[in-house]
Amino acid sequence: MNILFITPEMLPYAKTGGLADVCGSLPWTLVQLGLQVRSIMPLYKAIDRQRFKMKLIIKDLAVSLGGETIKANIFSHEPFPEHLVYFVECERFFARSELYTTKEGDYPDNDLRFIFFQRVSLEFFKRIGLKPDIIHCHDWQTALVPVYLKTLYRNDPFYSRTRSILTIHNLAYQGLFPKEHFPLTGLDWSEYNIEGLEFWGKVNFLKGGIIYSHALTTVSPHYAQEIQTPEFGCGLDGVLKKRQKDLYGIINGLDYHYWNPKTDRELKARYSVKSIWKKRINKSALQQEQGLEEDPEIFLIGMITRLADQKGLDITLKALKGLMEEKIQLVILGTGDERYHRLFQELSKKYPGKIGINLKFDAPLSKRIYAGSDAFLMPSRYEPCGLGQLISLRYGTVPIVRATGGLIDTVSDFDPATGKGNGIVFREYSSQALLKAVERALYFYSQKRLWRNLVKTGMREDFSWTNSARHYLTLYQKYLKVEEVHSKSIVNSQ
Ligand code: ADP
Repeated sequence: MNILFITPEMLPYAKTGGLADVCGSLPWTLVQLGLQVRSIMPLYKAIDRQRFKMKLIIKDLAVSLGGETIKANIFSHEPFPEHLVYFVECERFFARSELYTTKEGDYPDNDLRFIFFQRVSLEFFKRIGLKPDIIHCHDWQTALVPVYLKTLYRNDPFYSRTRSILTIHNLAYQGLFPKEHFPLTGLDWSEYNIEGLEFWGKVNFLKGGIIYSHALTTVSPHYAQEIQTPEFGCGLDGVLKKRQKDLYGIINGLDYHYWNPKTDRELKARYSVKSIWKKRINKSALQQEQGLEEDPEIFLIGMITRLADQKGLDITLKALKGLMEEKIQLVILGTGDERYHRLFQELSKKYPGKIGINLKFDAPLSKRIYAGSDAFLMPSRYEPCGLGQLISLRYGTVPIVRATGGLIDTVSDFDPATGKGNGIVFREYSSQALLKAVERALYFYSQKRLWRNLVKTGMREDFSWTNSARHYLTLYQKYLKVEEVHSKSIVNSQ
């Protein structure tokens, strides 16, 4: 089975969000399952082509857009055996400092940039004779591919058997452009209507993909349900509901190579489920580093997050006074809205020795916080999947989460009577509910054996890509109606 990932970003090349993590690690596991996977993405200026020793494959591949002929060069690189990644080079569109947005706002020609990327990609596959069984698209930047397959390429025998799958990583970003730009898509005006790409007087790329793709996925089963409601649907709940039969929620996996407390060089002491006691060494190092009182008995809560409304920072700030009255320390790492930067800065002065505030993006520090904290707080308003809770489970740090989206699918509330559950869950979006959840965690923490068992349960969970990749495989098979796929036995990435 031939799978083609078309994506605007992918690790280790370029990243602005979780979509890059997914496109960087899911292909590896799919290859282990016996699939042939290739990917294509834009060649941004920030990608170091010398480091990756990219090979030029095709020069001057031309596409006509709005009466203008624009050319691209195609390069390739193999990040690991059997996964070839193609790069679309076009100086006019991709030789820029950022991927989509600068401080001044979105690039005004983002529509043209990604229309070009998609059209060149489809032409490129034809040119090299690479007939994909599935084209797996990611977010609005590639959501026109399903539309093109059913319109411009409808009668093209090359793509007659190709199925498209669109994964929505973030429904809030839809690719909205002025109506006057519609002709750039190359589509007939008949596609611009309420049953097509029109959305409140604008062109909506994601809506096109939702309507035209053979199947849709999003990054957790609960979020797949939630986005069909007005509260979470960002105006597209009705359209998504219509596609309910073909909409699936598949939880993201975690890169278990990168996130592994047993081998993590960033940690003062490496540990596994068999040597959990070593977490104490990391805790005391973190307390020292953050200027907190060095005491193993104080309950240390970590929080690593974008400083955005989505992440439940308003209820955290409201609950803070109550939290600080307990035997608790808090370490926060995050960047984002200026407003939150200011508020958190003030707090660090107010509670010296009890709060560590780090307003920056710092991957090594994030690892030290995951390892050194007792619990990890994620009080999100909504959460499509969430990685923080998966990482903290892996590092034996008990997640305290609000019941929403992917957090419901991955964290279950601990019941001391049965010993079941891997974290602490609260439902209501309020500072009182948050405070109560933390107090419950604190009570469990005071009972050493109970806490140790809770930590062990979390560390034994498996949120590697193995399971999730199998769900994607089943989906591909379903939409291709392939009875049997030659499948190598899966190699666990641990
Ligand atoms: P989202 O994708 O909505 O930001 P997730 O929980 O899915 O939230 O993923 C966030 C990822 O980014 C996690 O791996 C988290 O550790 C990391 N992260 C967030 N903020 C920072 C930061 N300031 N420094 C380092 N890593 C961060």
